Amino acid sequence: MSANLTSVAYIGAIILFILSLGGLSHPESARRGNLYGIVGMILAVVATVLGPQVTAAGLPWIVVALAIGAVVGLYAAKKVKMTQMPELVALMHSLVGLAACLVGFASYIDPAQAFSGAEKALHELEIYVGIYIGAVTFSGSLVAFGKLSGKLSGKPVLLPARHWINGIAAVVVIYYGYAFLQAENIAAGMTPLAVMTVIGLLFGIHMVMAIGGADMPVVVSMLNSYSGWAAAATGFMLGNDLLIVVGALVGSSGAILSYIMCRAMNRRFLAVIAGGFGTEGGKAAAAAGGLAGEVNPISAQETAELLREAKKVIIVPGYGMAVAQAQHVVSEISRLLRDKGVDVRFAIHPVAGRMPGHMNVLLAEAKVPYDIVFEMEEINDEFPEADVALIIGANDIVNPAAQEVPDSPIAGMPVLEVWKAKTSIVMKRSMASGYAGVDNPLFYKDNNRMLFGDAKKTLEEVLAALKS
Ligand code: NDP
Repeated sequence: MSANLTSVAYIGAIILFILSLGGLSHPESARRGNLYGIVGMILAVVATVLGPQVTAAGLPWIVVALAIGAVVGLYAAKKVKMTQMPELVALMHSLVGLAACLVGFASYIDPAQAFSGAEKALHELEIYVGIYIGAVTFSGSLVAFGKLSGKLSGKPVLLPARHWINGIAAVVVIYYGYAFLQAENIAAGMTPLAVMTVIGLLFGIHMVMAIGGADMPVVVSMLNSYSGWAAAATGFMLGNDLLIVVGALVGSSGAILSYIMCRAMNRRFLAVIAGGFGTEGGKAAAAAGGLAGEVNPISAQETAELLREAKKVIIVPGYGMAVAQAQHVVSEISRLLRDKGVDVRFAIHPVAGRMPGHMNVLLAEAKVPYDIVFEMEEINDEFPEADVALIIGANDIVNPAAQEVPDSPIAGMPVLEVWKAKTSIVMKRSMASGYAGVDNPLFYKDNNRMLFGDAKKTLEEVLAALKS
């Protein structure tokens, strides 16, 4: 394939990726957005493999690598459960970071073309920065994977004088960057490069370990952004325009998502990155049981009764709905109630579940109409008019402690004000806390009822009672 044809294919791929991002911004067009992304990626891979940068000798290697990657990817995608998606995404981000590191070292040891003067300095700067971003993304994403999968504790791990450690690490990285650019030959440049890589890896671990449970959504979207910048850096190192543009698209959309997540959590971005939020979570969790009082249980039959008599019902799905895979039953219940003339709405908190848009994906899968699904700021004022707020496997996102307990780790985080409904019904299996490890005073409120059990099983009972 000639260089010109490759460029045309790259432009086509870039347009498809932009259309894909546009499509993914709304559930209704998300399927089409995915399709654009798939076609764009096929075009990009084919144009690159057949393009002028790949020699005939290199082709078989690339085909073998593609085949291995495709098999591993297919297997992982088929095997992963919906609840494990966030971990898989974190793992994939780590691979982008690793790729940036490897490409950086490779293009330093064996540059595709000989550079000199300012061009050489610029290329080496790209390598240095690219490897650093790659190393932070790689180790940070691995720690995020550990935290999201429960293999590592969600609590923040804070080193004493951590800001000093970060500051000193930054100075050392800049110093070695200077030494790297001054290096006479490749052997001399390897030491600063290796030291910086180790610092980048340690910084990635330190940064994500320091972030508390409830702030993980910001970290997930931030690592998403980093993986984009890592890909863009790889594009600079390889002189590949497509990779630069796609990396910048992912990097900037991830940054916007991080901003949205910060706003959803009412946090300042820099404060989250500096870590330490949720530290007091240790205290709150240790004081579990500190919240004393009676809770009012309710049965599935009584729940059905309340739903049947209600004029307005707001359903709040959370992570537990994903675990129980209860979205289809919920969808059926909402259809049945609407057929009976009940005004049923879904309220989605921006950090519900374990990844951005988690609940929207599940509800779309269960064919809940989009026009009854509302974002938090659209619906929060409507709870006082609701007869029943049905909370399905949600906990942190409906925790009034965010408003009522000033020193709570989630203080200030906007939450769905379900307790303002005439009756709120929380469906979960036990009195356990949510992801942030914070007790929930909602359970003890007078107008709250607890419907204990696996969400899918209990909802099936509610559905049966509604039908009878
Ligand atoms: P939570 O994790 O706060 O609560 C989920 C609740 O679901 C648990 O208390 C659990 O209680 C219950 N549950 C689990 N399994 C079942 C089941 N089979 N049936 C019924 N209930 C079940 O989830 P929320 O959605 O309320 O909040 C999301 C949390 O995750 C926030 O803290 C957010 O910061 C964090 N987070 C969000 C990310 C995102 O991008 N959206 C990423 C990373 C973290 P029990 O065990 O008693 O059943």
